[in-house]
Amino acid sequence: MNDFKNIKAIIFDLDGTLYSGNHAMPYAVETVTYLKQKGYEVFYLTNNSTRTPAQIKTKLDGLGFSAGVERVCSSLSASITYLKHQNIQSVYCVGMKELIIQLQANGITVVNDTDALASAQAVLVGMDSDLSYKKIADAYLIFQLNDKCKLIACNLDRSYPVENGVRLPGCGAGVAAIENACEKKMDYIVGKPNAYMLELLSEEWRLNKDELLLVGDTLDSDIAMANSFGCKGVLISDKKHADSVLTIPSIEILQKWL
Ligand SMILES: [Mg+2]
Repeated sequence: MNDFKNIKAIIFDLDGTLYSGNHAMPYAVETVTYLKQKGYEVFYLTNNSTRTPAQIKTKLDGLGFSAGVERVCSSLSASITYLKHQNIQSVYCVGMKELIIQLQANGITVVNDTDALASAQAVLVGMDSDLSYKKIADAYLIFQLNDKCKLIACNLDRSYPVENGVRLPGCGAGVAAIENACEKKMDYIVGKPNAYMLELLSEEWRLNKDELLLVGDTLDSDIAMANSFGCKGVLISDKKHADSVLTIPSIEILQKWL
């Protein structure tokens, strides 16, 4: 299981793996620096649907990781790539300002006029701290007007960590509300645990599955994604897990293994 001879690229989850709130996790900067010096390709992958890769790069740089923007993938950027690949040109967006700005910057019409709701080809659900009854009602109305409209989630995270172990409701909270009201299941989930972001990365960087190692702190998101894609995954956790889950108590251990 600890056979890493084929590994060329390490893909790090961010929240809870490389940083928590505005602090780098212990030994995270040292470990990433070490791996880069050893010649590994390093990538940064997050379910965050409120920040662009450029904004995430700025945060990573500020914490000492020195990340190339082309090596950062967020569920915001991946959602836009997915919509383009599906030739979806108009969406109703349940999400925050940056997601809407980036959709528009990429030529995707963001429908918000009540009169135009039926023209939406998809309802895209990202993390939205202004989630409202009106947005859920708009989504519901869209599916009543247009049964071909797709329901797409940036991710299914129920919650996300802020400082001091406190968590707040995540994208999955809005997803659940809309699915429940509309009696409809998501047609597609862009972020983890779906493997889409790994598919994009391996294609763009011409890396095979057996050359990738995903490192994360969440079993049902990070490790589930690695398993679904068919690449190796390492869970950072001090809890006991099934023997099939490669688990390390601290990111620092990677420096001994790689
Ligand atoms: Mg995490």
